[in-house]
Amino acid sequence: MPPVVAGGPRVLLRRLREIMAERSSAQARLDKLVGVIAANMVAEVCSIYLRRAGKALELFATEGLNRTAVHRTRLKEGEGLVGLVAETADPVNLSDAPADPHFAYRPETGEDPYRSFLGVPILRGGQVYGVLTVQNRAQRQYDEEEVEALQTVAMVLAEVVAQGGLYDVAELDEPELRADRPRSFSGEGLSEGVVVGRVVLHEPRVKVERMIADDPQIEMARMNGALNELGAAVDEMLDSSELDLSGESREVIEAYRLFALDRGWREKLRDAVTAGLTAEAAVERVQDEMRSRVMRTGDHLLRERLHDFEDLARRLQRHLGGVDPLSDLPKDSALVARAMGPAELLDYGRDRLTALVLEDVATTSHVAIVARAMGLPLVGNVEGIVDSARAGDLIVVDGETGEAHLRPPPEIVTVFHARRALRAQRVAQIAEVRDLPAVTKDGVVIRLMMNAGLLIDMPHLRESGADGIGLFRTELQFMVGESMPRLPDQIAFYRKIIEAAGDKPVVFRTLDLGGDKILPYGRWEREENPALGWRAIRIALDRPALLRYQIRALLAAADDRVLRILLPMITHVGEFNDARALVDRELERARLLALPQPRQTLVGAMLEVPALMFMLPQILRSADFVSIGSNDLFQFVFAVDRTNPRVAKRYDTLNPAALTLIRQIVHSAGESGGEVSLCGEMAGKPLEAMALIGLGLRTLSMQPANIGPIKMMIRSVDSREVGEFVNKLCNRTDHSVRTRLAAFAAERGIVLK
Ligand code: PEP
Ligand code: MG
Repeated sequence: MPPVVAGGPRVLLRRLREIMAERSSAQARLDKLVGVIAANMVAEVCSIYLRRAGKALELFATEGLNRTAVHRTRLKEGEGLVGLVAETADPVNLSDAPADPHFAYRPETGEDPYRSFLGVPILRGGQVYGVLTVQNRAQRQYDEEEVEALQTVAMVLAEVVAQGGLYDVAELDEPELRADRPRSFSGEGLSEGVVVGRVVLHEPRVKVERMIADDPQIEMARMNGALNELGAAVDEMLDSSELDLSGESREVIEAYRLFALDRGWREKLRDAVTAGLTAEAAVERVQDEMRSRVMRTGDHLLRERLHDFEDLARRLQRHLGGVDPLSDLPKDSALVARAMGPAELLDYGRDRLTALVLEDVATTSHVAIVARAMGLPLVGNVEGIVDSARAGDLIVVDGETGEAHLRPPPEIVTVFHARRALRAQRVAQIAEVRDLPAVTKDGVVIRLMMNAGLLIDMPHLRESGADGIGLFRTELQFMVGESMPRLPDQIAFYRKIIEAAGDKPVVFRTLDLGGDKILPYGRWEREENPALGWRAIRIALDRPALLRYQIRALLAAADDRVLRILLPMITHVGEFNDARALVDRELERARLLALPQPRQTLVGAMLEVPALMFMLPQILRSADFVSIGSNDLFQFVFAVDRTNPRVAKRYDTLNPAALTLIRQIVHSAGESGGEVSLCGEMAGKPLEAMALIGLGLRTLSMQPANIGPIKMMIRSVDSREVGEFVNKLCNRTDHSVRTRLAAFAAERGIVLK
């Protein structure tokens, strides 16, 4: 029997490297590559098919088939055995290919005599770039080692294809296909601001510079060293995490540690090094395979596991000396991504970013809220931008019109500068009202509070002229760290917030995790309906230690001041009472131990779940205050997922049912003497806020950037007049009363900026 791979895979890889370094044309190099692969694999045929626009697979080079078929033979995805490999992203290994039902006969290739067939995908980043095949006349099954060797070669090829070196052999210089032409995208402006920046692609794969090992022994030593370091780093994470906080946080980190030690994973990595790849290339190769396999299964649990392995692979690359993608971002980085979680955005930090562009995001999703809190212009729902953008491209991001211009021509940049100047003018107008009171024309004082969640938000309190913090989302601090904050860290953090607020009140909302707010160090069980799942107060009551520690920290930080605690996602009064009992227990503990404690502790409930609407008098009696979380409340009332852009905007919050519902809450609060405010995104929109004031709300909490425009609206409105008008609108059957309200405002000169 002939040697499986003549000279072994390492010799083959070395030859490939030499060919790739040659100065000949791309086609000439491809032709050589197939010849060398065929010879080394002891195959009579070796062919490379690459994906073209429209997903067709085109024969780019062949050894053994008719050369005249090159650039002529094209297969659709799923067509023939080659199409099957591309579609499934899995190797196809057949001893009698023509007998297989997928076989598609292409006479121009002259492949009649060949019976055995091995095809492997040319994979990169989980994407199929093409297919590499070998064929033999004799009927034989290729063995595992051969499949492995061909996959390794395919990976090296993928890197070359991705770098664009091979496409100059085809029609890619057609303008439509040229990667560097200017492109304009229109999406949705989700956070204000207009900037020019340079594209940074979120989670760019660490660019593997060297694919083929010079000295496999050295590579193996590097791989082993990095794996050891990785294990030690994960151990350290386990030791340093706040294990007393909750048994689950320990479980989560331990599970992650188990993955890091996973034998199968480690063996695969070492096998890839043995096959002749560098340690970095081996990580890529194993990850690519795992990614494409898992993506195809559609199994949610597996996909969750994949996240852990992806994370581990990135860490491993860092241990191997790869570049930390976060460390060397230029100052004007505009982050472009398909989707992103709020924690990932916070990871980047405000200083490093100038704008954010996402393909998939909804207005009230937490990443959008965080972007606004960071003062980061955000354009969302920009279809197709990730595939067109390249790192370092110039980009204009207009968070007001929702446009993004990639590689803009100079005229667009000029127009954009004019827009920036206009915006600066408006900002100056808003600054003028900062120190003026928020009083309506008929003398009604409105309390304008701001929403916050991080220390970086605090300077906005003074800058915006807000009366206090109406919603402090404490979970954001938990989401930025690498591990659960310990008790002393929490105390120090809350103390800084309270001190930064001075004599202005701060409403601390206890952890509102779950839904789209996931801890980076947590391994969360995937839920079918996370918004309706195990989140917020539900987690807190099931894992009371977590809530107790947070309350303990808040009590200590508030030291002799008034402490305001807000409980999220209360569904029934009993839940509120149970959580309040935990607060009382902690107060009692502080008393017994003579620890610092607040002068007064007020506990409020978020009204976000419709069931609580039917218990208004009761909750208003039990809670010291109620805050309407309109983002979640309307998500549940209208049955629309707030994070799903396809439906998030389907129903308007300026809908008579929504307005009637608010009216009823205000009415109940009036009857029972309870205090009610609203802290969802709707509070920060001038037209919506005008309606809310008409319905009787007197405290609104919003993003700091909205305080100025809302104050301008308030100072130009008559609350009684708008009250009468909105009350009438509640009886209408229109889907939205937005245009009626806008016409009302226009007639009366109400300022809506
Ligand atoms: C809300 O639901 O309206 C709210 C303010 O809470 P979050 O947006 O953090 O869910
Ligand atoms: Mg909410």
